[in-house]
Amino acid sequence: MRAILDFLLYDWLHADQLTQRPRFADHSRETFDAVLDTCERIAREKYAPFNRTVDIEEPRFDGEKVILPRATHEANRAYAESGMLSAAQDYDEGGMQLPYTIEAAANAFFGLASVSIGSSMLTKGNANLLLVHGTEAQKAVFARNEFNGRFSGTMCLSEPQAGSSLSDITTRAVPDGPDFESYPLGPRYRLKGNKMWISAGEHELTENIIHLVLAKIPGPDGKLIPGTRGISLFIVPKKLVDAQGRLTGERNDVALAGLNHKLGWRGTTNTLLNFGEGKFPVGGQPGAIGYLVGRRHEGLRCMFHMMNEARIGVGTAAVMLGMAGYYASLEYAKNRPQGRPVGPAGKDASQPQVRIIEHADVKRMLLAQKSYCEGALALELYCARLVDDQRTAAPEAADEARLLLEVLTPIAKSWPSEWCLEANSLAIQVHGGYGYTRDFPVEQYWRDNRLNMIHEGTHGIQATDLLGRKVVMEGGRGLQLLAARVNATMERAIQRPDLAEHANALGKALQDVGSATKAAWATGNPGEALANAVPYMQAFGHMVLAWIWLDVALAVPAGFSVAADQGRLGAARYFFHYELPKIGAWLNVVRTRDATCAQLPEEAF
Ligand SMILES: Cc1cc2nc3c(=O)[nH]c(=O)nc-3n(C[C@H](O)[C@H](O)[C@H](O)COP(=O)(O)OP(=O)(O)OC[C@H]3O[C@@H](n4cnc5c(N)ncnc54)[C@H](O)[C@@H]3O)c2cc1C
Repeated sequence: MRAILDFLLYDWLHADQLTQRPRFADHSRETFDAVLDTCERIAREKYAPFNRTVDIEEPRFDGEKVILPRATHEANRAYAESGMLSAAQDYDEGGMQLPYTIEAAANAFFGLASVSIGSSMLTKGNANLLLVHGTEAQKAVFARNEFNGRFSGTMCLSEPQAGSSLSDITTRAVPDGPDFESYPLGPRYRLKGNKMWISAGEHELTENIIHLVLAKIPGPDGKLIPGTRGISLFIVPKKLVDAQGRLTGERNDVALAGLNHKLGWRGTTNTLLNFGEGKFPVGGQPGAIGYLVGRRHEGLRCMFHMMNEARIGVGTAAVMLGMAGYYASLEYAKNRPQGRPVGPAGKDASQPQVRIIEHADVKRMLLAQKSYCEGALALELYCARLVDDQRTAAPEAADEARLLLEVLTPIAKSWPSEWCLEANSLAIQVHGGYGYTRDFPVEQYWRDNRLNMIHEGTHGIQATDLLGRKVVMEGGRGLQLLAARVNATMERAIQRPDLAEHANALGKALQDVGSATKAAWATGNPGEALANAVPYMQAFGHMVLAWIWLDVALAVPAGFSVAADQGRLGAARYFFHYELPKIGAWLNVVRTRDATCAQLPEEAF
């Protein structure tokens, strides 16, 4: 795994060149490697040995507290002590000014070792959002204490009746008294409502939990404003703090209504939280205390600020679960004797059995996993590099990175969620019956990975975002920028005899995606265009992955001599021969705006 990361980071992405930018000038390949080494070690020592423990010892509520295994406490402590929570922050903030590319690569080790022990991604996302939209006091009291590991953070968007459609949330926030605007931590409101699915919503891992909550401030008529326009964002600490960040000793009116019992990802608690129901009245009154972040009615805009990174994080988690299954099944296939090779004269039962890795079909399943997971890892790192470019490149390149990220983020989130999950399924298949038991780790990887198509925007919602918004925004410039990069890769590949055939196939795929995009929108009717948004996203994603693989293959020196390079070229070839041709079927229904699903009446199901 480390060798793959090193190749992708340095031989392919040239991440060491980031040190030429002023923000990263104190860094070097050595400092980057030191971060990777540290994370690899912590993941190996504090995470990997407990992956099954956290699956079996699900979080439980003893009536007062949520109990988690001791290993979870230790893993969280080790992560916070490593400084990784604030690694990307300014030196002034106590950070390391680490490029996001390196941070994302280093965090990949934790996904591989035990994806659900840590919930640091939420804490970082929460604190980062406050750095951008919070007041100085909010940054000092909440964000800094999250970066140093004293507090942890959550994101409270979903409600029992409002998941994909956040415009329908009903949590309300009303000003807390006539002088509600005079509080040092921000305008003070009282919140009331239920938040569903809140990850890390209750635990004893940190001194306090800082909830970032979306709620609606009623209009003058006392009614909630329909749509997303009425949504505002609030900091709601589990325990109240003073203006210096000290706990006041008083609980806020946030109560655990219940724990969700999940298919996987069990190391992280998942909660239904009741805000303001009066279980812990503050000042004798029901209503959870919340401090407004940013401006009223702009909550969703603030929340979406961190979405690109959150989605790259989800995509990377999906990739690493896929990788974990790949390594487990590779190991198994090398050791499991079963069956005999088929020679020209059929099978010879007098011969000893071979190991299953010698069967072509098992190799197919292994190569599929490798091509999905290594390709998707490359995509995630590419997107992470775009995040760095957006922040630190020259203005024109930064703007190009921003727009490319808009287009690529739905793929970075969704493609691994679907295909690295498929990799996990193949890892089970390679194990045969053993893969279906809890005696082997692969079933857990599949269960853990099944979440990723659901949260951070479901597959369907991401697809609608891609076809409905991203490829058409700014006059389709994002798609054009992507096409330019794909073309540049093709032009280089066409010069290499071993890659020219792939370059031509990619050129055709790019054209097909482009023409299908136009055909989908030919009538200008969103209902028709978006009815097949998921097949569109599948085809788009496969085209992107083919491009990534071709670009990665170009980083393999001609006349290579190491097996790893042979493996990379083999995985690229697999992708072009077995995967890319699938896009024809997906794009066909998009191009014809096929209404088979959309128009089938409910009674016919
Ligand atoms: C383990 C876990 C952790 C989570 N953590 C958090 C968290 O920390 N904070 C948080 O706020 N939320 C969290 N979520 C919530 C998650 O984001 C939602 O589950 C998700 O957004 C989907 O919402 P829903 O469950 O209400 O499903 P629904 O929105 O009801 O969707 C059900 C199905 O209908 C489809 N669908 C819905 N609307 C449309 C449409 N307009 N067009 C086409 N198809 C549509 C969806 O794609 C989906 O397949 C978590 C969820 C889980 C399972």
